[in-house]
Amino acid sequence: MSKCVVVDTTKSPWARLRPVPVNTVKLRDSFWMKRIEVLRKVTIPTQYEKLEETGRIENFRKVARGDKDIIWRIADDSDVYKWVEAAAFTLAYEYDPSIERMLEEVVEAISSAQDEDGYLFTYYAYDRGSRWSDLMRMHELYCAGHLFQAAIAYYRATGRDKLLNTAIRLADHIADVFGPDRRSGAPGHPEIEMALVEMYRQTGREKYLELAEFFLDQRGKGLLGGDIVLIDHKPFRELDSMVGHAVRAIYLCCGATDIYLETGDESLYSTLERLWRSMMKRMYITGGVGSRYHGEAFGEDYELPNVRAYAETCAAVANVMWNWRMLMATGEARFTDVIETVIYNGALSGISLDGKRYFYVNPLADRGGHRREEWFSCACCPPNIARLLASLPGYFYSTNSEGIWIHFYTSSTSSIELNGRMIGLIQETRYPWEGRVKLEVNPEKSDMFSLFIRIPEWCEEVKIIVEGKEFKRRILPGTYLKIEKDWDYGDTVEVFMSIKPMLMISHPHVLGNTDRVAIRRGPIVYCLEHVDNPGFDVWNIIVPPDVQLREDFRPELLNGVVMVRGRAFVIDSKVWKSKLYLPLRNMPLEFSEVEFRAIPYYAWANREPGPMIVWLRSLMPKIPPERTRACRLSS
Ligand SMILES: [Zn+2]
Repeated sequence: MSKCVVVDTTKSPWARLRPVPVNTVKLRDSFWMKRIEVLRKVTIPTQYEKLEETGRIENFRKVARGDKDIIWRIADDSDVYKWVEAAAFTLAYEYDPSIERMLEEVVEAISSAQDEDGYLFTYYAYDRGSRWSDLMRMHELYCAGHLFQAAIAYYRATGRDKLLNTAIRLADHIADVFGPDRRSGAPGHPEIEMALVEMYRQTGREKYLELAEFFLDQRGKGLLGGDIVLIDHKPFRELDSMVGHAVRAIYLCCGATDIYLETGDESLYSTLERLWRSMMKRMYITGGVGSRYHGEAFGEDYELPNVRAYAETCAAVANVMWNWRMLMATGEARFTDVIETVIYNGALSGISLDGKRYFYVNPLADRGGHRREEWFSCACCPPNIARLLASLPGYFYSTNSEGIWIHFYTSSTSSIELNGRMIGLIQETRYPWEGRVKLEVNPEKSDMFSLFIRIPEWCEEVKIIVEGKEFKRRILPGTYLKIEKDWDYGDTVEVFMSIKPMLMISHPHVLGNTDRVAIRRGPIVYCLEHVDNPGFDVWNIIVPPDVQLREDFRPELLNGVVMVRGRAFVIDSKVWKSKLYLPLRNMPLEFSEVEFRAIPYYAWANREPGPMIVWLRSLMPKIPPERTRACRLSS
């Protein structure tokens, strides 16, 4: 089977772009190849063990054999489903008999737990009377959605329809229970909406699309108590800002975008556009979203605390999923820019470099107490980051009738189907560490089409050379550059993007970042961690705005990263003694000068614990003239 795509917009009438299967791309020695190898060798097997250890897979077997001792934690069937989806993408990318065996075992367990009428949710297996009685809290529809996505991925990866048939029976059962002339009901946690649209795409059964629209339109009717956290305070089309539980809100937007892609409903698209613009005022520089602990929710515009950033890993994954759908709908690079920011920062921080520990919460500053864990009682994040990474090869390219769209850069060899012909495409690059990308285009025979080359929004200088000649038209960052020509085998395009570290500042209304800067280099956001800066407290640093940033690739460090260094000052916080506040005139004005070392944010907390910070104090305090001598900056 070769058609394991992530979101199948191939036939969606309102899609501008079509997906490519996850096995289109073969990663070569590159940033992502290392991650995907760790995923296959470590993450997928260790998560399988955790799912067994914690009884999550056993729950399905218990139902099949009539054992009533079901261990229930919130939504734990879905953890198994998300793992199946991740394992299926992994298998589609590269065959691995041990993953295939694990998958078969789990698929057998899941399918065997299905009731005769199609119902499948382990906790209510023996309690028919309670089924569908508490859609707000019990996550039955949410779990069903994850089963649909898992079943589709497994089918697309292996061609085996066992789990897909299970999913179809459950979807039909749900369609028998809910609908305009049946029961009303809004899922407490959205997810089934996008999954039903994918079921429609997979099976062609229109009732699944109709059911997805039905569930979307159930919101705002008070079925969930009108709760804003559950996004039930208004009908979807009347929402004017991103509010509520971040994962719920973004999954709902994924479903709405999927419905738009199939129906062309403009009222949905205008809502989505409004919500996306709202989210851009509520997103961390890492792409993390959902800043509030309370309700795991979006805050107000610019409410982006650093230490108390919630920024759940699942919300980052959801952010990628939604922006991907918006990209499929529009072909606009602003969505790809968000995806790139998230995958290199706020999502990737969710998993350790060794592939077996996870963050649920992703703060942007910490005193050293926040560490990744092997598992959680509410284990949504580990299999969610796994399914994102496993499906990532499916995100690098898209096509449309005009040509091939290159979204992301990584050393790879690909074979892409375009209008019935196969086009070979080789990328040679050390991205994200270096900005030079050499593309080799290998059509079967001379072929006229376009390459759409993404120029990242952060890229201030770019040069493109096609077949040895510099491309003369103006190139705008944050767009796709279209190169239309008759391509011959071996034609090359070279893209030179300047990647150098730069200081970023926040909108002034992000109060926690007042007078602070963050270091970004290409798509990667940096942080300072104590272990690289043992001589001082990284929270006390003052980075001059004109700091000279130096960079060097360190192959031995954190699986190979570019470290950024510079000279800065450190304020002596001992002057405060036990006090929290001091008169301004007592401000300490003697600073020690230090060299600081910054590492990519995604890689923090992989060594010994200690303070970490992304947003660094930058502007020097106002100094009375008579005291300037004491703090003259020396270099
Ligand atoms: Zn989560």
